[in-house]
Amino acid sequence: MNGKVVVLGGGLAGLAASLRLADAGWSVIVLESRRRLGGRASSFEDVSTGRTLDNCQHVLMGCCTNLLDFYARLGVEDSIEWYSQTHWLRPDGGRDVMRASRLPAPFHMAGSLRRMRLLDRSMKRQVRRAMWRMLRMGVSGRLTLRNQNFSNLLDQWGQDTQVRKLFWEPIILSACNLSLERVAAVHAVQVFQDGFLAGAWHSTMGVPAIPLADLYAPAADIICQAGGEVRFGCTATSIGIEHRRVIGVQTKDEFVRADVVLSALPWERLDAILTDADRDTDARLGDLSALGHSAILGVHIVFDRVVMDEPHLVLPGRGVHWIFRKGIDADGSQHLHAVISAADEWMGRSPDDIRDAVLSDIHAAYPSSRQASVLLCRPVKERRATFAATMEAESSRPSASPSPVGPQGGDIEGLYLAGDWCRSGWPATMEGAVRSGYLAAAAISGVGELVPDAPAGGLVRFLAKTR
Ligand SMILES: Cc1cc2nc3c(=O)[nH]c(=O)nc-3n(C[C@H](O)[C@H](O)[C@H](O)COP(=O)(O)OP(=O)(O)OC[C@H]3O[C@@H](n4cnc5c(N)ncnc54)[C@H](O)[C@@H]3O)c2cc1C
Repeated sequence: MNGKVVVLGGGLAGLAASLRLADAGWSVIVLESRRRLGGRASSFEDVSTGRTLDNCQHVLMGCCTNLLDFYARLGVEDSIEWYSQTHWLRPDGGRDVMRASRLPAPFHMAGSLRRMRLLDRSMKRQVRRAMWRMLRMGVSGRLTLRNQNFSNLLDQWGQDTQVRKLFWEPIILSACNLSLERVAAVHAVQVFQDGFLAGAWHSTMGVPAIPLADLYAPAADIICQAGGEVRFGCTATSIGIEHRRVIGVQTKDEFVRADVVLSALPWERLDAILTDADRDTDARLGDLSALGHSAILGVHIVFDRVVMDEPHLVLPGRGVHWIFRKGIDADGSQHLHAVISAADEWMGRSPDDIRDAVLSDIHAAYPSSRQASVLLCRPVKERRATFAATMEAESSRPSASPSPVGPQGGDIEGLYLAGDWCRSGWPATMEGAVRSGYLAAAAISGVGELVPDAPAGGLVRFLAKTR
């Protein structure tokens, strides 16, 4: 055994780190305040119906290599359904389909873009021009964009209001959970470079086919079989520190001693258990609130009949951004899930108001739904869904490891950090959370590293300056 590590939080970051640490021979104790694993990517029981509902639809892409590695470790990779095409609603009620052709990347989406009736010729020209610039700048060019937001970049690239609304916004809102005006350009460009331009597999969309809670539940057994422990309903209330070094974690019931503590809590939950002395001692913890939040609204709707035939639908320029088909019950009723990203303005709206707004968009997309009865409408408001991936936040995202203690100070020894808000190179996503967990595990154990990115196509590497 290498030592005892207490991991705070059984979300994706904490679980990913725990599996890697258990592999490396560490004795792992996970403290999780809830009764289930998965954190923000989890499910709950709707008391009025007894249904298990996901807090929100969670989507991944082929480029999420670390998340896929984590799923393979959990043995749940077959529970992801893959979609090689996305369906887009046009204002005339028709559909456009985005899918990769046989052309090599980065031209695999060119045919779809050409056929999209949602965009006129001028808009398509603008998209092509911007995509070309993103391709050519490569990773090094992207990293020079740290000090601007995506909207500024689109200004410089001559992208008009309509093409922003119909093309850039639907993709960026759902991928980064922030508006074009707020999101850091570096993250938005990454979405297109790594997700769309790099290759057909990279942009393939994965959707869990089982409840989120079931996807992450196997982690508990794996940790226990390796000699570790998962304590449910166990809330950390402070971190024990002596002479600048962690000695364990105080919970509501006991003090749990440890050689190393890994916080995989959301930033605001970590901030809530820190003392001023902790913040003064460790530069990583000084100003966590600079990270801010961005909300997501998910709405579960059950109709008494089947109204949606596609697996999902993107709704450009509408209040609802995506609709997902969740399933059909034995009695023929159909469960849909509507998602609104960057939903801060929706948080104060009443359930009736939300229901009217969401139904109006569903009716526009599926006119037959006007005749159907709504059996359930359950909004799930996540005010603190993700940290706000603004350019200001980028510099506040801490790394996993403490800087060493020396004459100039240093951070709290033995305290490591993970979570989607930590420095992972990714915006707030499941992939970002898993990466942060793997990075923290590697920093603690000295073994393991990130799973490499899925390689971009040869032509992409040739055309991009730095790939
Ligand atoms: C509505 C919604 C939709 C999303 N959609 C997507 C999507 O489609 N694709 C995507 O990639 N990402 C999506 N995300 C983001 C994704 O869910 C998160 O980035 C990721 O799950 C964060 O994982 P984490 O481990 O960093 O944090 P968390 O999941 O927040 O895990 C932290 C854990 O710590 C526990 N905890 C908190 N305080 C304490 C304490 N004091 N003691 C002990 N335990 C504590 C919590 O209960 C939680 O289980 C979405 C998020 C939300 C909210």
